[in-house]
Amino acid sequence: HAKSQGRGRAEHFTDMLAAEIAERAQLESDLREAVDKQEFSLVYQPQVSADDGRIVAAEALLRWRHPDGLKMPGAFLERAEETGLMVEIGEWVVTSVADTISRWGKLGIEQRLAVNISPRQLDHATFFRRLRDAMHAARAPASLLELEITESLAMHCSDDVIDAIAELRADGASIAIDDFGTGYTNLTRLRELPVDRVKLDNSLIQHVADSPEARAIAQAVIGLVHGLGREAVAEGIESEAQAKVLRVIGCDALQGYGIAQPMDEAEFLSWVRRPHVQQLRA
Ligand code: C2E
Ligand code: MG
Ligand code: MG
Ligand code: MG
Repeated sequence: HAKSQGRGRAEHFTDMLAAEIAERAQLESDLREAVDKQEFSLVYQPQVSADDGRIVAAEALLRWRHPDGLKMPGAFLERAEETGLMVEIGEWVVTSVADTISRWGKLGIEQRLAVNISPRQLDHATFFRRLRDAMHAARAPASLLELEITESLAMHCSDDVIDAIAELRADGASIAIDDFGTGYTNLTRLRELPVDRVKLDNSLIQHVADSPEARAIAQAVIGLVHGLGREAVAEGIESEAQAKVLRVIGCDALQGYGIAQPMDEAEFLSWVRRPHVQQLRA
């Protein structure tokens, strides 16, 4: 009896594996099609000054308008990275961000726009040239572009990548370390990295309003960031209480659902045009 049960389990397991393999293959072919059919779009989430609630920047976030419904990055980015499709998708993102900066400029909205860059993109030798070309083609000033690079990526990228980042920064672009607090930071390296700001990950923010320890950690990180001459941005602000604590402990900018959701371009533009006092909902 035990034996047949064991076999049953093994069969169940292989079925599950087969289903998973089929699903991954399907996702990969859907992703390839999505690149050709341009099924991607961007949404924009504001970052506001902790002092007065005025918008200081926006972050562009990728969405996939899949025939079956909207897909979030969590559902496809990892697969895009594994298959190398991220390079093409990332190129679309970077070109779109350059176009957006230019479009907004014509509307009188000179807002810094941050774009997330994945490991595969930075690995690609031509990434920085293409980025520069896209910005030139769109006549978008580098000063309105920010690259977000995750903490773990920032800690491990090559000297060549660091040099290219420094060059881009010399052109006026800014660099943010994303998801800070989720990886292992080498503090010496943090000091040497050519970056303008550090984004405290949601996980560092979540409990600041209800745990003195969480607040102490956030405060220490902000102190470190300021000590290095960089700005601190908190991500994942969901409540007024969190926003208040972060303001008190000196965080420079806030981002999160409690301030504003990521919005499509039309929504974003009307949000930006509202009087700033209404903007700090949190
Ligand atoms: P991220 O760069 O850390 O972006 C912030 C994520 O947190 C976004 O998720 C955003 O919608 C979400 N978020 C914003 N406010 C809140 C909040 O108050 N609470 C919580 N729980 N979440 C909040 P999203 O759009 O699903 O993106 C997830 C991740 O996917 C991003 O994390 C980024 O690492 C990656 N990603 C997004 N767009 C791109 C892209 O164009 N290129 C690359 N390479 N990666 C991207
Ligand atoms: Mg980001
Ligand atoms: Mg982040
Ligand atoms: Mg994050």
